Amino acid sequence: MSDVFRVYKFGGASVKDAAAVRNVSEIIVNHAEEPLVVVVSAMGKTTNALETVIAAIMSKDESLLHSSIQVVIDFHRVIVEELFGASHPVWSSIEGMFTEMRSQATLRVDEKYGELYDRLIGFGEMLSTQIVDAYLKEMGIDSTWQNAQELIVTNADHRRATVDFEKTEIRVREAVTPKGVHVIQGFLGATESGKPTTLGREGSDYTAAVMAFVLNAAEVCIWKDVPGVLTGDPKVFDDVIQLQTISFREAIELAYYGASVIHPKTIQPLQRKEIPLRVRSFVNPTAPGTSIQQGKSLVPMSPCFIRKGNQVLITLSTRDLAFIVENHLSKIYQTFHKIGVAVNLMQNSAVSSSFSINNDPILIPQLLEELRGDFTVKHNEDLTLYTIRHYDAAAVNSIKNRGEVFLEQVTRHTHQMVLKEVQ
Ligand code: ASP
Ligand code: MG
Repeated sequence: MSDVFRVYKFGGASVKDAAAVRNVSEIIVNHAEEPLVVVVSAMGKTTNALETVIAAIMSKDESLLHSSIQVVIDFHRVIVEELFGASHPVWSSIEGMFTEMRSQATLRVDEKYGELYDRLIGFGEMLSTQIVDAYLKEMGIDSTWQNAQELIVTNADHRRATVDFEKTEIRVREAVTPKGVHVIQGFLGATESGKPTTLGREGSDYTAAVMAFVLNAAEVCIWKDVPGVLTGDPKVFDDVIQLQTISFREAIELAYYGASVIHPKTIQPLQRKEIPLRVRSFVNPTAPGTSIQQGKSLVPMSPCFIRKGNQVLITLSTRDLAFIVENHLSKIYQTFHKIGVAVNLMQNSAVSSSFSINNDPILIPQLLEELRGDFTVKHNEDLTLYTIRHYDAAAVNSIKNRGEVFLEQVTRHTHQMVLKEVQ
């Protein structure tokens, strides 16, 4: 047996019910000839359900607290019953977790929201990993349950903690020996002294990248309900095709423009060690999926489409039509930063600057008011920002046909348009 790990990540949809857990276990059994780290998210929509529990505690809504905890418990009981029957040793640890969750579901003295959140939200992943680990053992797999709250060391920035790679590496290398399957919770970590933290919603992909980085893994696979990465969202664009390969650099670019490929934070540690990342289908596990790795930007080379709706286009000019120069721009960007909005696209002419920004009913009126102090301000709402990477004439036309173009910006690899769509 090789001592090089591979890291598999299974998201909530892949473990949403008993049949899904069986499917995931089968994939693992078929790939367990080499050491494997299996990162698992909370089952189905459990994280959202736990957020309801936390909201009930914060608003001191006793009846919602009671009913929302019961929802989480019943959901998992049905799955455990279907997988293991009514009497099985796994029940004692699962019921123990339910009891623990109930007893922890209260705000402690002086506790902040983020601390409460991180203390409770992890029960989703704790339950899912207990269930998957027990089921793998049932199938004869040499599986070890690992506790991310003991292995993934973070700072105390609750709900968006930063991983300390050095400390994490020491702990992981000691606990995760290259033998059999190790099942670990995605999304969770803890401070050095053991206070629970989390890595941000949808953070399990990042956990997979962290584990791969510290173990020098050969590969990370993210198993999804789609066949791989496509050239656009099929709900928005016609004729999208599946990509075979994407470079790390291109994946980061696509994510920057708003593609929901893989979060750049997940790519970065993998890029540093050149560990390839594959997106594969848990519905069709023998299909190759899409590989994100060092090399050519895209295979096959073809235009990629990204749509960002609900844009506001703000155009600023100086009152006396003086040129917009550096000190204006620096003031404008300071205002964006202060209000907390991010610019998706900007374009300058001699006397004006235009910015496409996500509309926000609270922040944008504040921003406009602040800018009116220094500039003449025009703005248009209900616009859409389209980005085409590796564009060609046909791709550009297919987008232009969608409406009236307000702004267009073209660089060597990227064509962007802000337009008013005609329904
Ligand atoms: N369960 C967490 C969430 O839903 C983490 C994850 O799924 O990646 O956000
Ligand atoms: Mg999830």
